[in-house]
Amino acid sequence: MKITNIKVDTVEVPLVEPFTISLGTITHAKSAIVKVETDEGIFGYGEGGPGILITGENLPGTVDCIKVFEKALIGTDPTDLEKVYWILDRAAAHAPCGKTAIDMACYDILGKKAGLPVYKLLGGYSNSIETDITVGIDTPEYMAKKAAEFVKMGFNTIKTKVGTTTEEDIARVKAIREAVGSGVKIRLDANQGWSAKQAIQIIERLDEYDIELVEQPVPYYDFEGLEYVTKNSKVLIMSDESCFNAKDALRLVSRRAVDVVNIKLMKCGGIREALKINSICETAGIECMLGCMVEETNLGITAAASLGAATKNITRADLDATFTLSELMFEGGIGTEVKKDLVLPEEPGFGFKGLKNR
Ligand code: MG
Repeated sequence: MKITNIKVDTVEVPLVEPFTISLGTITHAKSAIVKVETDEGIFGYGEGGPGILITGENLPGTVDCIKVFEKALIGTDPTDLEKVYWILDRAAAHAPCGKTAIDMACYDILGKKAGLPVYKLLGGYSNSIETDITVGIDTPEYMAKKAAEFVKMGFNTIKTKVGTTTEEDIARVKAIREAVGSGVKIRLDANQGWSAKQAIQIIERLDEYDIELVEQPVPYYDFEGLEYVTKNSKVLIMSDESCFNAKDALRLVSRRAVDVVNIKLMKCGGIREALKINSICETAGIECMLGCMVEETNLGITAAASLGAATKNITRADLDATFTLSELMFEGGIGTEVKKDLVLPEEPGFGFKGLKNR
């Protein structure tokens, strides 16, 4: 089988409401949808959803990268994943969103060729994974109201964004815990908003609200600070922006700078690299979470959920991006129904159908 053509489309979908984190506010999911075509008539879909606040990439850059990758990949067998990835890495440094789009499409093709859903190709531990749902930064009252609504809808874990000031963050968590009661997990994401000492102080003051874990308390480059927080806090500490790829994971794990690692396809460059991160973590006895960018749609979420369901060491998921879309532009895969259990289609590949009206 040979790649004959790679088409790229862009979608821009308004979110139901703007989503604020400590780094800024996001109003639209903007992503690149690729279709990798082959000489056997089999094709695969993939998505690159650049979260500029996290990866520094934007949509035009991602589209340009995919065009570079197309030139490099014509004539290559898309099921030769190791070779495809070697070509991508030689064609462009970094550029994880563009690489993810191609990687995802190649896994879709491999699944179709093998007659198996991708979650089975990746290990088949389960065909579903439970996700949390995220509350963006707002007033404590509004955040508590949203969290209570999500619990009513059946969610067991609320992820809440924090990372502004100590007093505001404590007020947010207090309001949410009071609204959802005990028995619901609350995980925090500071998106690099605190210093190491500030993180320790806040986490101590939040002790009475029973926090499951704290994600990325300090700036992404502050590995020493992350290690300090992990070693001086009784709450689990998880990396997000500090761990893009397997090399970051090895550094973090070898110094025990984190307790949990948040893997995102859009940070690491796709399923192949994500598997490496998970292997490093699993070998070291560190569990992983599968996360997503707010900018992703149901393609990225389906691919991430496939990986999360397939692997035993990925014990948590934060795959709620489709819940905030005002419209679904792409058919197939996981839909936008707002529910905690993401159940994967049994069709070969990812079960993707294609863009609506194109
Ligand atoms: Mg995060």
